[in-house]
Amino acid sequence: MILPLLRSKAIAVNNCEREGLVHRYTEQINEGVSEIHRRNWEAMTLAFVAPLREEAQTERLWIENVALLEKLRALTLQKHRLFAAARRCEALSVTLRTSFEAVVRQNDAAAREREVFGDSRYRCWVCVEREVSEMVIPCHHLCLCVVCEVVAGECPCCCEPKSGAIQVFL
Ligand SMILES: [Zn+2]
Ligand SMILES: [Zn+2]
Repeated sequence: MILPLLRSKAIAVNNCEREGLVHRYTEQINEGVSEIHRRNWEAMTLAFVAPLREEAQTERLWIENVALLEKLRALTLQKHRLFAAARRCEALSVTLRTSFEAVVRQNDAAAREREVFGDSRYRCWVCVEREVSEMVIPCHHLCLCVVCEVVAGECPCCCEPKSGAIQVFL
């Protein structure tokens, strides 16, 4: 009776060990499968997600590039406008300088005439006392003072009948 009992006990122990082994192997297999799944997921991430990220970054850079090109185009346009304005200012400056030099020359000539002819050139042709200030119309001779202009019926310079006069400030 003892021998069969021992045998059945040994079988039971063996069964128990076998179950333990099977359990451990199953756990190891499950861990291996999980590891394989994890590695596969990482590989998929690298294979699909990374290119998607690169694509998104490329698109973002492309949009930035387009915006920069627009800004560059606007700056180029502004540069052309500023150059055109600078050229206009330069032309205006040349014109003003020429006009100023002409006025200076005229003033110099007038000053020299005054030195040569004295003030008699600017005296009224009628009273020869007061300075001329009235231009006779229609002949445009500047030869009357404000007092003599009122009574003059004709230009004392060319004798043409006077129809009016314009006051001139010298
Ligand atoms: Zn006069
Ligand atoms: Zn006249």
